[in-house]
Amino acid sequence: MIAQANPLAQYLGHRAEIDAAVRAVLEGGNYILGPEVKAFESDFASYVGAAHGIGVGNGTDALHVALRACEIGPGDEVITVSHTAVATVAAIELAGARPVLVDIEPNFFTLDPARIEAALTPRTKAIVPVHLYGHAADLSPILRLARARGLRVIEDCAQAHGALYNGRRVGSFGDMACFSFYPTKNLGALGDGGIVVTSDTALAERSRLLREYGWAERFVSRIPGWNSRLDEVQAAILRVKLRHLDGANWARRRLARMYSDGLRDLGLVLPAEREPGTHVFHLYVVRSAKRDALRDLLTRHGIGAGVHYPVPVHLQPAYRGRLAPEGPLPQTERAVREVLSLPLYPELEEEKVQHVIQTIHSFDPA
Ligand SMILES: *Cc1c(COP(=O)(O)O)cnc(C)c1O
Repeated sequence: MIAQANPLAQYLGHRAEIDAAVRAVLEGGNYILGPEVKAFESDFASYVGAAHGIGVGNGTDALHVALRACEIGPGDEVITVSHTAVATVAAIELAGARPVLVDIEPNFFTLDPARIEAALTPRTKAIVPVHLYGHAADLSPILRLARARGLRVIEDCAQAHGALYNGRRVGSFGDMACFSFYPTKNLGALGDGGIVVTSDTALAERSRLLREYGWAERFVSRIPGWNSRLDEVQAAILRVKLRHLDGANWARRRLARMYSDGLRDLGLVLPAEREPGTHVFHLYVVRSAKRDALRDLLTRHGIGAGVHYPVPVHLQPAYRGRLAPEGPLPQTERAVREVLSLPLYPELEEEKVQHVIQTIHSFDPA
């Protein structure tokens, strides 16, 4: 059996360091918003290239906090994509705003900047580009348009820790950026976690208040907030893993290249990169018109392949009819029928990648 993702392998790879870090927290007696969270917030913000980091409970909350910090709420519209984890859209609704869904660029699966203009209304307040699968959305035209219109840009970086755009790490471009540390993400906790990063001091301060009851000081709420804290144990684990993130991303890229070399000329559409060396391959996603048959073949051979995502958000039962997209989304609706995520995680053995490649070579697309 070859899993599509394997967070246990990464724990085992750094077991001594992680166990020591966890034990230090357990014996330190400080379990919430203590020194580990503070140090991780600072380490991670520096890694991204932002001034401030605010650790929160998960990636959905990171987006919710960021939107609320930007004072986006009822009556406001936020432009994003339907081809994303449902969390992106759920967070916009949690803030009370209306998600306005636009189509993607078929080569990169990310928000098509050419689709923004038609989706703008006087109520538009922000754009949330999603750096899907580990590849950056085309930020330059998005930022240019947002600046011209006075819109906020909040990057959803939940799948792109360490990915580059124009030579800089994603998360350093928008007014704010949000990351998830769900265990399978490129930087994963051993539980839930998330962070908001920003270089805007006022937005950072508001985010800090929002994540803990609006407290500026203990027991005194300056604004209405709620509770979404990153805990000390997860922060300690994340500090260990952050030291290994570039190495892990490098391993993902190396395995991705093996796939791309081995799967050429089979009629599959392989992942593209806008600029070489920028993709961090959270997922290695191929496209095939015979996706379901290919997936069945892999399953029969004990190979775990995933579909990210089988139903676009605007067609899911919770949203269908209620959340009308901004016009048709042909690229989104085609992508969900064709995408297949092959096994990929930093510790995956080369022989297993070769086995997946050989298995796909036996696929008869006819
Ligand atoms: C994982 C993910 C999220 C949500 O993160 P959680 O930690 O699961 O709340 C948001 N957006 C994208 C694109 C994701 O992949």
